[in-house]
Amino acid sequence: MIVMKFGGTSVESTLAIAKVAAIVKDRLAQRPVVVVSAMGKTTNKLLEIAASAVAGDRVEAFRMLAALEAFHYAESPADASEIIASHFQELSAVVEELVELKEFPPQYVDLVSSYGERLSSHIVALTFQKLGIDAVQVDSRAVIITDRRHAQASPLYTRTYAKLEAQVKPLAQKYVVVMGGFIGSTQDGFTTTLGRGGSDFTGAIVGAGLGAEEIQIWTDVDGMLTCDPRIVPGGHRVKVISFAEAAELAYFGAKVLHPATVVPAMEKNIPVLILNSKNPSSEGTRIVADRVPCANPVKSIACKQGITLVNIVSLRMLMAHGFLHRIFDIFNRYRTPVDVVTTSEVSVSLTIDNKDNLAEICEELRQIAEVNVEENQALICLVGDAIRERPGVALSIFKAMGDVNVKMISQSASSLNLTMLVAGEDLKKAVSSLHNHLFATLDAAVFD
Ligand code: ASP
Ligand code: MG
Repeated sequence: MIVMKFGGTSVESTLAIAKVAAIVKDRLAQRPVVVVSAMGKTTNKLLEIAASAVAGDRVEAFRMLAALEAFHYAESPADASEIIASHFQELSAVVEELVELKEFPPQYVDLVSSYGERLSSHIVALTFQKLGIDAVQVDSRAVIITDRRHAQASPLYTRTYAKLEAQVKPLAQKYVVVMGGFIGSTQDGFTTTLGRGGSDFTGAIVGAGLGAEEIQIWTDVDGMLTCDPRIVPGGHRVKVISFAEAAELAYFGAKVLHPATVVPAMEKNIPVLILNSKNPSSEGTRIVADRVPCANPVKSIACKQGITLVNIVSLRMLMAHGFLHRIFDIFNRYRTPVDVVTTSEVSVSLTIDNKDNLAEICEELRQIAEVNVEENQALICLVGDAIRERPGVALSIFKAMGDVNVKMISQSASSLNLTMLVAGEDLKKAVSSLHNHLFATLDAAVFD
């Protein structure tokens, strides 16, 4: 059994769903269970409709609702009409309630946004049937049982796995089960969601609960690359990467997948594949629980621009305790994540991505230290298996950096990551030189 998850763009139209059907048909022998997102931008639209209703703009809310309904009719087979009509009828009643309520409590956020996946799972199942696939829709809310943290619910694994085993597994022997991602319900039957983008998470939960051989996340890229194509084109596909390495890369715009979402799969040692629905013959990237040895010390170079460097210097830090605590307390109070940190005896350098409260933070820092700030910096993050343990790697990396000034270096405890900070204008040059150098020869087991 395999789980195949398709995102919003993959099911945004009849045509797109037909392409998904072709991909699924090719894999019927592996007995796929299909998890789908809402069609196209439906989740956003549903939330916009609710926002208008709550703001008292009933006319606008119903205008948008009618447009969303028309969109669903237009992209569905005729026999989906009844289902679409009944869902939108219910939804209209909810919108009326919101107009009265004038607020949007979390239970309603989940209720409203659940309609996207409820509709898409029916429509995809019906379209599959039209195209000759024996498909059956299962309401994920009957199976994915969660806690009550609306809009960011966590599954109750024991219950959820038991439901998957009892309800989905037998059906999946005979049919292609189609389930909506993202949605679930509490034990007492209230609709919940797993947080925005939660369909990948559903894919992993379903795969883990069914003991699938593989979980496939179908997107619109060929998987992970050796470097960010927006910075330096011509990267190679990474065929296999460890979960820990993928997690190190996630922050750096490698927005293919949020690794936290596949934890249930990793716990059960089920590989997760990133595949391209626009190029289904590409083998994509396989994320595995175990480490992935590789002749190249680095598997991928990720980067992030628009970074701010904050240098904090104080003699009071010398031999004192509690100083770092005071610094981080300030960032904490302004809810500003700190990404990379290096320290010396009398200084701390750190980087932040979100500079919304930079002025206030600096003002507070200046009460305990000297502070200087450099904006428009860029982080380069090299991720690979055991960078730290391999002698000579650092030398070759810094050689490749040539005359680019490295302002900060950090090697993480995981030993999978070496991060450097450079001026924003040096980024392209540095990455392209690093890429040429680190991927001059490729371990064929890992790269394409
Ligand atoms: N439809 C939901 C969202 O847009 C979940 C998902 O697509 O993953 O956030
Ligand atoms: Mg997504």
